[in-house]
Amino acid sequence: MGTPRKRKSHSRIRMRRSHHALRRQHLASCPRCGQERRPHRICDHCGFYRDRTVVDVEAEAE
Ligand SMILES: [Zn+2]
Repeated sequence: MGTPRKRKSHSRIRMRRSHHALRRQHLASCPRCGQERRPHRICDHCGFYRDRTVVDVEAEAE
């Protein structure tokens, strides 16, 4: 592996790390139950996705 020729300043390190922060998780609401749901995912609350029930939540709970 190569060895860096120049030591990076604290400023440079911080400038690089300015992009490392995590963004807030995006949430959309379920059209059927209104619960918050991650976009493009089945609703955890009612198992609903794209105007039909995909997962039977009652059966899955057991
Ligand atoms: Zn739902």
